[in-house]
Amino acid sequence: MLNIVIFGPPGSGKGTQSENLIKEYKLAHISTGDLLRKEISTNTQLGALAKSHMDKGELVPDNVIIDMIDSYLDKNFGKIEGVIFDGFPRTVAQAEALKNLLVEYKTKVNVTLNLEVPNEELMARMIERGKTSGRSDDNPETIKARLDVYEKQTKPVLDFYKKEGVVANIKGVGSIEGIFADIKKAVDAAK
Ligand code: AMP
Repeated sequence: MLNIVIFGPPGSGKGTQSENLIKEYKLAHISTGDLLRKEISTNTQLGALAKSHMDKGELVPDNVIIDMIDSYLDKNFGKIEGVIFDGFPRTVAQAEALKNLLVEYKTKVNVTLNLEVPNEELMARMIERGKTSGRSDDNPETIKARLDVYEKQTKPVLDFYKKEGVVANIKGVGSIEGIFADIKKAVDAAK
């Protein structure tokens, strides 16, 4: 299996580059943000809980997220050749839980692609995206909260994967194609 974590602050291009990865490699794509937005749009109880956190720019509790990943792997393992984890893990507890889940399937994270983008650029991109995305969390106040949450809760995940020796730093500024060329090199080196 080839398992990829696409990592980086909000607005760093994880979703965009995941789409490129899907086209290039035969991998399943799991975006916890997309799964949560689906729960919200279908008015489930989980959706209501998630929305109360997402609208403030806070993380949704670890147990909710880990259960989602667990049931996804349970349903799909065996049918897939690997997974792109997009927007997950966002805490060290999630990274540890993912490691344990993948061990059960005798597999692991092969590479963590760390998209590096300066904060001013992230802010500008998300404000621009907010004009068309319809995402209630793409507004200046919530964006700031999300960037703070990233610094405090999510960045430590990078140290977790550094210790595992799987981090590839990718300069996330420039043309989408140019960034993807670097991503492809990192993924092919990890295969
Ligand atoms: P995203 O679409 O990845 O930017 O996620 C949007 C929002 O969904 C985040 O700001 C969080 O509130 C929530 N979310 C998505 N993925 C996770 C995760 N792995 N852990 C906790 N909260 C998450």
